[in-house]
Amino acid sequence: MGIGENLRQQLAAKALKRQFDRATEAAAAPSSVESVDTGASARSRFEAMPLYQQVRIMREMGEKLHVDSPFFRVHDGVAGATTRIGGREYLNFANYNYLGFAGDPGVSARAKAAIDRYGTSASASRMVAGERPVQRALEWALASFYETDDCVAFVSGHATNVTVIGALFGPGDLIVHDALAHNSIVQGAQMSGAKRLSFPHNDWQALDELLTRVRRDYRHVLIAIEGLYSMDGDFPDLQRFVDVKTRHGAFLMIDEAHALGVLGASGKGIREHCGVASDQVDLWMGSMSKTLAGCGGFIAGCQPLVDMLRHLAPGFLYSVGIAPMLAEASLAALERLQAEPERVARLQANGRQFLSEARAAGLNTGTSEGYAVVPVITGSSVKAAKWANAMFADGINVQPIFYPAVEEKAARLRFFVCSTHQPEQISRTIATLARIA
Ligand code: PMP
Repeated sequence: MGIGENLRQQLAAKALKRQFDRATEAAAAPSSVESVDTGASARSRFEAMPLYQQVRIMREMGEKLHVDSPFFRVHDGVAGATTRIGGREYLNFANYNYLGFAGDPGVSARAKAAIDRYGTSASASRMVAGERPVQRALEWALASFYETDDCVAFVSGHATNVTVIGALFGPGDLIVHDALAHNSIVQGAQMSGAKRLSFPHNDWQALDELLTRVRRDYRHVLIAIEGLYSMDGDFPDLQRFVDVKTRHGAFLMIDEAHALGVLGASGKGIREHCGVASDQVDLWMGSMSKTLAGCGGFIAGCQPLVDMLRHLAPGFLYSVGIAPMLAEASLAALERLQAEPERVARLQANGRQFLSEARAAGLNTGTSEGYAVVPVITGSSVKAAKWANAMFADGINVQPIFYPAVEEKAARLRFFVCSTHQPEQISRTIATLARIA
């Protein structure tokens, strides 16, 4: 492709990015609907909504740049280190099946037995319509794993953050989160009605200074961070954050979605990696959809915390209980994680190999520490799309991340490394990348 064509694509991407930003502003400011469509019926047509304009611009971006959409690909079976898409076998770096338990025959057999016993759905809220033993068994196992009093399971990881933060905090409170915190944390904070502030990524000193300035203006303060950041593959210095939260009388919440089963010699997450006692953290949040081969989220913590959530968190009280078959799958995965720590060691070795070979090939891996998540920063959305397409043509499935999910110059391919990847698969992937880049 000529330089002229490349330039045209970059300019088209820039113009669309400007349009997208305008639509985003319009979405945040309802009074500006007219700027998108001034017709009398504009307010009752979905096409006139700024959100729809964003979708339209995303599609147009793909067309103008002549890139195939890498989204919504259909997998024909279990997606692990390899997967089948459209009848072709691919090396797969686009999911969080970190220890290979999703699709593991033993885990699946336990889930099937749970279907035979309980059916496929809990069909109603646990508080109102009652429990299944496996739901509590999973919660107790997670509480024991996190060395907390108790635990409560929700039907979605995203909904866990939204409903828990929204239920516990409100006007007069402050929620401070890492600038790269997951959308679910931000949504929960926005919904709560508390003041929301962010601090630069992993910068506990900036957080300390922020709280020194503003702590006295608020009743409760929540600090929300992650055990392993899913965009960058780096993690916080947990002890420093514990010190800050103690100094300022705040609650500390850690989202362990990508840390459980990944960090620490036995996969116990960021606390094991950093050597920090469990009770130094107030809310341990996790997702069942990654290492735990299921679907749902949890909060592990002290009894009063879990009691409040079990009785009053809207996403628990007014939502169906976790499906018994999914609870059983996650319980089985948690047991296997503890019985087979060699899987964690293999995952960590794979992550190290991926990072060191990528660096040796001159690829920009940002701040990744080489644990399961390794980004390769391309510098533009156009390049990220092209690299992902070229990899796909070569039989490697990897997710590109574009603006606005990250800053335009931070656009990237994001590799999720699993324990089930073979060393030669990793080497082949890096060699392919090095050729394309
Ligand atoms: N927290 C983090 C850090 C995540 O990355 C995700 C999803 N990838 C979630 C929460 C939501 O979890 P789930 O996908 O299980 O709803």
